[in-house]
Amino acid sequence: MNSTLPQPHVAILGGGPCGLYAARVLSRAGVRVTVLDKGDRPGGLATSHKRGENWYDMGCHMLHEFDKEIYEDMMSIMGADSIPVQLDAKIRWAGSFYRYPLQFQDMIKGIPPFTLVYYTIGLFTAQMRNALAPWIPKNAEEALVMLYGQPLYEFFFKEFTHRYWGIHPRELSATFITTKMPRLSAVDVLKRALGKIGIKDRAVHAVDSALRDETLHYSRTGAEAMPRHISRVVNAEGGEVIQGADVTRIVRDEASQRVTAVRYLQDGEDHELKCDECISTIPVPHLAMRSEPAPPESVMEAAHRIRYKPIAIYGLLVKKAKCIEGLYIYYRDRAFHRVGEPKNAGLVVNPPDHTVLIVETTCEVGDEKWKGTEEVKQRIFSDLEIENICHKEEVVEVNLLHCETGYPVFALGFEPHLEKVRDWIKTIPNLQSVGRQGGFTYPNMHSAMRMGAKAAQVVLDRLKPNHKTQP
Ligand SMILES: Cc1cc2nc3c(=O)[nH]c(=O)nc-3n(C[C@H](O)[C@H](O)[C@H](O)COP(=O)(O)OP(=O)(O)OC[C@H]3O[C@@H](n4cnc5c(N)ncnc54)[C@H](O)[C@@H]3O)c2cc1C
Repeated sequence: MNSTLPQPHVAILGGGPCGLYAARVLSRAGVRVTVLDKGDRPGGLATSHKRGENWYDMGCHMLHEFDKEIYEDMMSIMGADSIPVQLDAKIRWAGSFYRYPLQFQDMIKGIPPFTLVYYTIGLFTAQMRNALAPWIPKNAEEALVMLYGQPLYEFFFKEFTHRYWGIHPRELSATFITTKMPRLSAVDVLKRALGKIGIKDRAVHAVDSALRDETLHYSRTGAEAMPRHISRVVNAEGGEVIQGADVTRIVRDEASQRVTAVRYLQDGEDHELKCDECISTIPVPHLAMRSEPAPPESVMEAAHRIRYKPIAIYGLLVKKAKCIEGLYIYYRDRAFHRVGEPKNAGLVVNPPDHTVLIVETTCEVGDEKWKGTEEVKQRIFSDLEIENICHKEEVVEVNLLHCETGYPVFALGFEPHLEKVRDWIKTIPNLQSVGRQGGFTYPNMHSAMRMGAKAAQVVLDRLKPNHKTQP
């Protein structure tokens, strides 16, 4: 490490988009920063892994342009390594393809008129009920009914949500709907029409997750290019990104409660990194459980109740030049919930007459999908065949990627547990817990990077009196 760098020293736990971007902001401001990341390459969930001659994403990852400042910074860092690509995604639903995000005009084209009338009446009834007697949904089922009406809930969301999470919507928090469910613009159009005749929307609101006409950004080596470039500039600006560093202890001073050091294991050896400020992007329960001294028992109990849904991603090398039209397709009744073909976004595949499919599933650690049993693979191959994507004989390689903390689970009643842990973190003056894992939330990459930038700004403000910017 560069010994001429000014003190103080900021430790960043986790080198996904959030932690890396926090490091980017701090190192650019001349602050000494070290990122500790347990992965073998930077990027966390938002990276790709090389298997044989090809790169496989942990679920197709493309950068949105929504945050102009971050987008422009990324373009300047990545240069020609970034490829612009038009969002072209579909939803497979009731035997038809619909463009993603779902549009009203597409929906009415594909849905039989009687069914559409039925959904509209359901939505209308839900809206009337909300308008006449506003109510607070107790769980995700009620929130979905409130948002989309009973028939649409029964037809589209109920079984899919249950299969995706392995939890009945009645056992999921209503908060989940406001932060995770994509906005159905078809429903918005209907709601606007209802609004015009005086029936105002007082229901919960779903989120905008993508725009209809949107340019995304990708690379020839998949998602890995962006975090690799951020890591490169952080190192070039005097910071350090250490891979293969598993944070085992966050050490605090008992009197001041301040974090004074972070311990980590690398290649079986225990290391200690002294720090003045700490930004954590590792899963929030792990932060509590690895703190020394340990938090109060009630905080530990709360931390144990915060759960994540693991993901198992099947990266297939397929002996076929092209399998699907567009970037990815969502499915609601298959062994997978999304299939992406990153070659259609510019990924270089070897040999060139082959393609790569990224087949996304949710699972539990140690179950059949996690292990990638022969039975699961056969189920996936068979569903790919049914969907006319590829034949079993065309699959040349299966590369299984995992993440234990793929999605925060907003299980019914999770909020007080999360609050308990957050309140405890607030008692530690120089610690921030942010990002997808640290904030227990669902950001896209640009929002996770924005969280990192904000955390970095908090540190810069705190360090102002002592901090000398590099000439
Ligand atoms: C299947 C899927 C597809 C997605 N597609 C897109 C997309 O197309 N576009 C988009 O914008 N967003 C997408 N996202 C969201 C994106 O993955 C997140 O926004 C982003 O990864 C969040 O960054 P983060 O740094 O907060 O968390 P993470 O990426 O999860 O990073 C956390 C980091 O902490 C590290 N860590 C954990 N524990 C330790 C420890 N003990 N010691 C050291 N390090 C540790 C991990 O190794 C990891 O690097 C997708 C997400 C999923 C699951």
